Amino acid sequence: MIYEHAFFPTKKPDAASDGFSLLEASGFVKVISPGCIALLPFGAALLHKVSEAVRTIAADHGFSEVSLPLLQKYDLWEESGRAAKYPGLLCETVIGDKRFVINPTQEEAVLDLFRQSSFLAKDLPIRVFHLGERVRNEIRPAHGLIRSRSFTLVDLYALTHSAEESELAARDLESVMDEVTKWAGLSARRGMYFPSTMGVPTYSYWIPSVTKQCIVPVCRNCGASYRVREELKTCPSCDHTEFDLVDGAEIGDVMRSGNNLSSVMQATPANSDVPVHVAMMGLGVSRLLQLIAENHHDDKGLMFPYHIAPYLVHMVAGDARAHEARKLYYALKRAGHSVLLDLRKQSLGRRLVDTDLLGAPFRVVLGNKTAAGLYEVRNRLTGESQETTDEYLHTFLMEVKHEIEE
Ligand SMILES: [Zn+2]
Repeated sequence: MIYEHAFFPTKKPDAASDGFSLLEASGFVKVISPGCIALLPFGAALLHKVSEAVRTIAADHGFSEVSLPLLQKYDLWEESGRAAKYPGLLCETVIGDKRFVINPTQEEAVLDLFRQSSFLAKDLPIRVFHLGERVRNEIRPAHGLIRSRSFTLVDLYALTHSAEESELAARDLESVMDEVTKWAGLSARRGMYFPSTMGVPTYSYWIPSVTKQCIVPVCRNCGASYRVREELKTCPSCDHTEFDLVDGAEIGDVMRSGNNLSSVMQATPANSDVPVHVAMMGLGVSRLLQLIAENHHDDKGLMFPYHIAPYLVHMVAGDARAHEARKLYYALKRAGHSVLLDLRKQSLGRRLVDTDLLGAPFRVVLGNKTAAGLYEVRNRLTGESQETTDEYLHTFLMEVKHEIEE
């Protein structure tokens, strides 16, 4: 991308920046109204990068992507009984005489899709996922992208024959969660909901976070963590009574949902009376953007690892070398690198400060005082910099590209 006309205002980050303030300072996001947050060009590019990683990992585990309508029939939510269960959480709209719920989650929609598709028992298991926008009537939006009214989520669903198969699918979903959080460079921890809501173990995934979206009791003896509604007196895994209370943020959860909902909705294969068992995973994709920012920065701004960075190279050129910079930009693009070229009218100094904020792994500077064909290349993660030639830059970036692909 050539940054000449695009819109992303930057400002100096606060000293004690959390992930969201950093994304705001770097021009990735803009709060439009409480709980409604716009992703500006870099924010959208980062969301795209994270989404592609999630899609790849989900596909590796046999999940196929579906794109389900934003509008779900209200009747479905009445049929499942969950319209009454979550009063006030659903955002609704009416078109003509039809009442709709605006996609808060997709269990109903997926089970409806299944029963309308005349699947046979032998077609199971079925694995699908949907990655997209969700809308919830969040009364108290807070913590930036962590709790908002409109957000991007991925839901994975495995429909199986039996509780045993469903358990295997749930374990696979836990692997998906582990792989995504590892990719994002986050050390996610699994906390059991206690008491369990459906009589089966359900796990929330959380990471320590300054957002304090949740406070998680962690057993001092065995390290198990729990998501609780009231204070925990003893650790269910080891009966120890001392806990550390850790500030955290939830990323998502893996549920063994059984077949209660599918019984109510009569989601059975066409040639069977047995309702399908559902294992599911939900993961806040837009939440990840904020937690990635919180965990990859220094006091000057963001610091993206190579594989996460929306742009691998951030080029800045003095006026005298703008033409040369464009040529280099297109050459690097042709070689398959993601490059940002900043040719705004701001001073070179201001644009260099922005390179630190925006966090691309490599900064390439074409200074007015340096000879044509020579560039300063700096690694944002190590701070090392060196003067280099065109040929060296190409070879070096190709090595980085191979490293990322491995
Ligand atoms: Zn314990």
